[in-house]
Formats: sequence, structure tokens, C-alpha cells
Amino acid sequence: MSLIKKILAVCVSVPVILILVAFAFKEEIKADYQKYVNRSVPILMYHSIGIIPNWEESLCTSEATFATHLQYLTDNGYKVVTVQQAFDLLSAGKSVEKIVAITFDDGYENNLTSALPLLKKHGFAGTFYIVGEKIGKPGYLSYEQLRTLSDNGMELGAHSMSHDPLTIIKPEYLVWQIKEPIALFKKNLDMNITGFSYPNGAYNQEILDIMNKGGWRYKYALTGKMGANTQEIVLNTPYELRRIGISEKFAGKEGIENRMKDTYIVGYLASKGFDLNQFRGSKY
Ligand SMILES: [Zn+2]
Repeated sequence: MSLIKKILAVCVSVPVILILVAFAFKEEIKADYQKYVNRSVPILMYHSIGIIPNWEESLCTSEATFATHLQYLTDNGYKVVTVQQAFDLLSAGKSVEKIVAITFDDGYENNLTSALPLLKKHGFAGTFYIVGEKIGKPGYLSYEQLRTLSDNGMELGAHSMSHDPLTIIKPEYLVWQIKEPIALFKKNLDMNITGFSYPNGAYNQEILDIMNKGGWRYKYALTGKMGANTQEIVLNTPYELRRIGISEKFAGKEGIENRMKDTYIVGYLASKGFDLNQFRGSKY
């Protein structure tokens, strides 16, 4: 581990340890934290549901691990809705206690063959962000398969056209990368999509300005920033929603339990003005 990484690790872990110690002693802090938990929605981010040899570990979750994660959510009373549904509940000020959203990036075919049956078994609705130019390519979902997901109550959204991080795209292609998926879904599936997931979680002010332009715009966009989502976030920064990456690295019930805790703690600290995201990069 490099010295810089060590320093960053200490910077991140010290406040987390402090807050955990504070929890152990302060009833008021515990109550305040619980209030935050009850009014916020974690958005979990998966990619491939199935281990693909030689792939980056953070992009793959085995079917068995995914099944265990869903069972954990069911056993602990969570209800999984689409991101648009969670967004609507939050913005309307309705109860979001025990509400979670599960998302899948990149549009892998195994999202239909492996994830959908498990989601349905638990009565959960997932949200799938699709890369325009990958639709129908080997290993990726086709339009017909996307239709099946939608027919089963799942939400479909965009993940750009080419999956290049938008912060490094030539300016002349930027609007096309963001806007074209709307036309693609309309033309091929007669479907109006409302959500966008930034490739690699990367975005900047120029991208936010495009997102905020009128007419064709999305209702929300997902970043690589960690934390849960509150009414303040969806109303004030709808194009900067937070997510947490989940993969085989977080196998088992403890894996998802810890990841949910991380989400709430990072979100809680951010709501108090201490955003740990400033210490970490975004790489998804
Ligand atoms: Zn992606």
C-alpha cells in the first residue's frame, strides 16, 4: 500500500471509528442516526450476476451470492422498488422506511437469465441501465429481452451510448452520449426512459448543465458517490444520486449487511456536512 493510500485510509477510517464510538455512548446520536436511516434510500449497484473468468472482481456477483443478498433483504423486512419509484416516494415526502433500490449497470444478458427470476421470487423490482451500442451484442441484452424485463415490472434506464466515461468524451459527442438513448428506447421499444447512470460514475458541471436542459431531459441520474438518498438530495440534486457498489467481494449475509451499514453511515455523515466521498475516487 502506498503512503498516500495509507494516509487516505486513515483519513477515512478515523471519522468512521469516531462515529461508531459515539454511537456506543450517545443515545441522542443513535436516535438521530435511526431517523436518518428511516428517511433515506440506499441504491445498490450490481453488474454481472454470474462470475465471468478474468473479469474484474468488482463487476461480478455470483448467482448464489445475489440470492443470499436478496434473502437478507427479505428477512430484514426491506422492500425493493425501482429507482424511479424510490425517487417519487422521496420527492413526495412519503415514507421510505425499509425501502431499497437494486440496480444493474451495463446490460448483461445474465441480468435477465439469472437476476430476474430471483428478483421475482422475492417480489422485488430492479432497475437496469443499458449501454446503447451494446444492445443485442453477444453477452448483452437484446431489445426483445429488454422488453421482457419491462413486462415483468422492471425499470430500464440509460448508461450512455458507448460506456466511455463522460468526463473524457469530446464535447461534440457529449450530448449524443446522454440524449441518444432516449430516442433509441422510444424508437425500438416505444418506451420513455427517465433514469441515467453515469459510466464509471464520472460526471462534472458541464454534464450537469446538459442534464438540466429542458425538453428531453431525464428525471434523475446516478453517480458513483457513496451514501443513501434523502428527500433533500432528490429535490436539490436529482442528477447526483448516490449508490453503493456490490459484488462478489461482499459475499454472504455479512457482506450485504456491512455494505448497507457503510451506505447509511457515509450518507449520515454527509447529511451532517462531512462527505467522505471527497477521500475516494469513483470507479465503476
Ligand atoms: Zn458501467
